[in-house]
Amino acid sequence: MESIVAYFSDMPTPHRSFLIVGGLAFFLLLENFAPFSRKGYSKVKHTALNVFFTLTTILVNLSMAFVLVWSSSLVSDQGVGLLQWIDMPLWAQLIVGLLLMDLIGAYTAHYTEHKVKWMWQFHLIHHTDQHVDTTTANRHHPGESVIRFVFTCIAVIVVGAPVWLIFLYQSMSVVLSQFNHSNYNLPLAVDNVVKWIFCTPAMHRVHHHYRQPYSDTNYGNIFSLWDRLFGTYVAVDNDKLIYGLDTYMDEQDASHMGKLLAHPFVGYRSRIEYAEEEKL
Ligand SMILES: [Zn+2]
Repeated sequence: MESIVAYFSDMPTPHRSFLIVGGLAFFLLLENFAPFSRKGYSKVKHTALNVFFTLTTILVNLSMAFVLVWSSSLVSDQGVGLLQWIDMPLWAQLIVGLLLMDLIGAYTAHYTEHKVKWMWQFHLIHHTDQHVDTTTANRHHPGESVIRFVFTCIAVIVVGAPVWLIFLYQSMSVVLSQFNHSNYNLPLAVDNVVKWIFCTPAMHRVHHHYRQPYSDTNYGNIFSLWDRLFGTYVAVDNDKLIYGLDTYMDEQDASHMGKLLAHPFVGYRSRIEYAEEEKL
């Protein structure tokens, strides 16, 4: 336990970069050998676009990482946050801390992005992907990366998170997101067990169906608990899913870098007329 704390307290930046690149390579290989969907598309073009958005996500996060470290030392100096108020053994700090960081920094951030119009305008870029695979994980508009960063800062303050917990959380968050977006399915028996704790690809894929209400379910990133607890969990036959976003199904709208960057700043497109009638 102490060695985990020591490592993540001082996690070198190259290790953080390696985790992103290594995770991407691992899941790309996995989905290449055992893909869930065999639908053909230009992998190179798709990956290039998503890697561009992954790079902007990394850039935003690395350039603002010092704010997280600063927030963490502020909360420990001032004795602010749950872990500062309640004395817990390290293992309990790890579990409670990870759960709450995931609740505030991922589930709440994601849920809010779906409900607040101007935030949705940034988040929808993630949903325009019509070929969800592991590279979709970090297909975020730079503006969304900033929104998510603010929620992570709020999580650090509420939790009273030490630096080791922040870096451990971010590492798990990156890898789990790459996992639950991957075009790979765990064997059914394994998925049936794992999905009680973690968000699996079979679960998160439903969130990428092109229409509501399915795109407004399964918001979780690391833990599946929050969707189950807040009633946003659904299980759907993955073979019936169509990826993308009803309001942006046009090829140019969904895969042109300039258009994707501009979407938040041009008109809002209502999804009401596309409301789902049949049940999947
Ligand atoms: Zn979403």
